[in-house]
Amino acid sequence: MTGPTVTFLGGVREIGGNKILIEDGPDRILFDFGPSFSPRKEQFYVDYLQPRSASPVQDLLEFELLPRVDGLYSREALMDSDLPYRPPEVHGIFVSHAHADHAGYLKLVDPEIPVYVGAGTRRLLDAIETSTPSMKYGEHDWRIFADRAPVRVGGLEVVPYPVDHSVPFAYGFLIRTSEGTIVYTGDFRQHGPRAADTHAFLAAAAAESPAALLIEGTRAGPDPRRNLTETGVRDGVDRVLGEGPSLALACTYPRDVDRLRTLYDAARAAERELVVSARTAHLLAEVAPMFPSGSVPVVGRSPGLSVYARKKRRNFRWEAPYLSEAIGADVLRSRGDRYLLALDLMHFPELIDLRPPRGSPFIHSMSEPFSEDDVDDRVLHNWLDHFGLAFHQMHASGHASGPELLEIVREVSPTFVYPIHTEHPEAFEAAGTPVRSPALGTPYSLAR
Ligand SMILES: [Zn+2]
Repeated sequence: MTGPTVTFLGGVREIGGNKILIEDGPDRILFDFGPSFSPRKEQFYVDYLQPRSASPVQDLLEFELLPRVDGLYSREALMDSDLPYRPPEVHGIFVSHAHADHAGYLKLVDPEIPVYVGAGTRRLLDAIETSTPSMKYGEHDWRIFADRAPVRVGGLEVVPYPVDHSVPFAYGFLIRTSEGTIVYTGDFRQHGPRAADTHAFLAAAAAESPAALLIEGTRAGPDPRRNLTETGVRDGVDRVLGEGPSLALACTYPRDVDRLRTLYDAARAAERELVVSARTAHLLAEVAPMFPSGSVPVVGRSPGLSVYARKKRRNFRWEAPYLSEAIGADVLRSRGDRYLLALDLMHFPELIDLRPPRGSPFIHSMSEPFSEDDVDDRVLHNWLDHFGLAFHQMHASGHASGPELLEIVREVSPTFVYPIHTEHPEAFEAAGTPVRSPALGTPYSLAR
């Protein structure tokens, strides 16, 4: 095939797992490289059953859970696999944001291949590696790009634009090829605190009259989940905290800095202290310098923010600075009315010590489960029922809604739209722009 092509090696009819290969003459670059969270992956690998660290590529290729790309994987990761090691034939990987489904397979990549990320994402990945022992991204030739500053890789030009998403430092890209521009949205929304960034990106995308729009469609098609704006979440949390004098609990995504700010602001307004895990405290401290001074709360510097001392035998060295002033279950049990505790599902055994009064609120500030027989959801409700806690669902999605997506496609008006990161590519037909619902591993030419 002559001329530039785009090949989807993941994120096809599934939410997450984006792996997009763009080739133009001798140039080959990838956008995102993360694992699928699709049911197909979970047929073979689940929480407690993972590929062997000594032969990860072999174990994933067994079930076709990774693409067979020459000159991409490291010699070490390829151990015992039938894909032979070859020196780099991919000339760069651009990572849109720090979520696992976009960055989680970087550790398999040849360390000589440049990995392009925003400065904030680099910081965030570092903080995650330090505070989550199971999360490793590997050694790389990291290249930091600046907002809206073009990056040249061979004959290709990539312009990263910041967009709003449920993790900070998320980007969409304009990719200028020899035969027109490809727009890749990454994951995005336009109802969060950085909506203006998304609008600026989409305006720049429309101005290119792109040949291809690679757009995420997490919420395309039927979407029964209730969604609020970030302000809506704040109003809801305010209401719950005003209701009663007992300990309030909340759970959210660990990297959703916007949500942590919302919980912090709501707790302050209700004259409560927000209590977070050492891991969250570390993450906030690491990303705070990337935000306007004082806008991200930091333990030790911001009033009304403390760390929860979980009951455990051993602490890691990185936790030490956060644990010296940490608050234990006894304090939260005796003066619950003064606190809002952010507690992850994996730390629910703490409830046995916390024993909040029956009827105390539990704010689920995460997406509602995608399937009806979600195990985590069932376990969560078993615990809440056991302790008689009142469940409140309050979440603002990280993704644009179905109707917004159609409007965006019309506004950007590409020659072809390629829906990815979605279970419902057909839902994009309603926009009236020609849709190419991509097949896994098929190269698409930019020509009409
Ligand atoms: Zn994603």
